[in-house]
Amino acid sequence: MIIVMSPQATREQIDNVERKLSQLGYRTHPIYGDVKTVIGAIGEKRLEDTQSILSMPGVENIVPIMKPYKLASRELKQIQTIVKVGNCRIGDSKAVVIAGPCAIESYESYVSVAKQVKESGASILRGGAYKPRTSPYSFQGLEEDGLKIMAEAREITGLPIVTEVVDTRDVELVASYCDMLQIGARNMQNFRLLREAGASGKPVLLKRGLSATIEEWLMAAEYVISSGNQNVVLCERGIRTFETATRNTLDLSAVPVVKEFSHLPIIVDPSHSTGSWKYVSALSKGAIATGADGLIIEVHPDPNCAMCDGPQSLKPNKFSVLMQELGSVAIAVGRTI
Ligand code: PEP
Ligand code: MN
Repeated sequence: MIIVMSPQATREQIDNVERKLSQLGYRTHPIYGDVKTVIGAIGEKRLEDTQSILSMPGVENIVPIMKPYKLASRELKQIQTIVKVGNCRIGDSKAVVIAGPCAIESYESYVSVAKQVKESGASILRGGAYKPRTSPYSFQGLEEDGLKIMAEAREITGLPIVTEVVDTRDVELVASYCDMLQIGARNMQNFRLLREAGASGKPVLLKRGLSATIEEWLMAAEYVISSGNQNVVLCERGIRTFETATRNTLDLSAVPVVKEFSHLPIIVDPSHSTGSWKYVSALSKGAIATGADGLIIEVHPDPNCAMCDGPQSLKPNKFSVLMQELGSVAIAVGRTI
């Protein structure tokens, strides 16, 4: 439930309500607004509790949160969340582009592509050191050596880095290198991993599961937030449908739907959703036009020789052209890129 404090409520009255809620066994999440403060209270709601809270000084109203996700909901927090990753602000008026190869393959290739995507305007570097491959015989990533290469690329370019963690046992190590943890589509409902990623304190990039509904995805975000970490960015990366012409089907309607139901930023991955570099440009533009807060795009210096996801990777020169073209789309919807 949401406890709406009156605009005149004093700090002491707000603190008293929070204390009372805690005594009654609720977890509290105050949101201090310009005009009024609201307190999210998560727990089993009892009628006698609402009555006693409602009678406290400074309380204006109590509103139930109808959605099963509470902390991720727009009902609780109307203002858009901005997630800071290094100097970068995801959810603000500048759409953020994350770029880099699917996997870290070597120091030379990673650093060279990192410099090129920076030059073209990317704000965050991506790359996988632990790869969740469909086949156990496919390249699984360079693991900690890959993380070291990413950290060196951050030193050289000054850009923050995001990388996937696939196992609870690796969360601490991966978090010690990166600026943002990625939870991949295949792990969206790995609840222990979500909690550990949440507890790491690093911002979390939460990809939508292969067959997850938007509600299930927001419930996964709720796991991270309820572990004490508000810094969640959602990533639509295509879902399973009957269509086989593309690797997955990009659900662009998820962007405005998530904007309606949640305060969390949402970005789009046109690479994994299509599986083909040919469609990345069109869908990137579509995503920005739809209101996405950013993009995550795979870029590889030599896609034909990539160890992972070459067919969907843009060459650096094509990425550069796309970045220029995205500028006018962003302006058309009141943003920059
Ligand atoms: C990736 O970003 O490289 C990746 C494996 O993505 P997804 O989890 O969306 O398949
Ligand atoms: Mn990939």
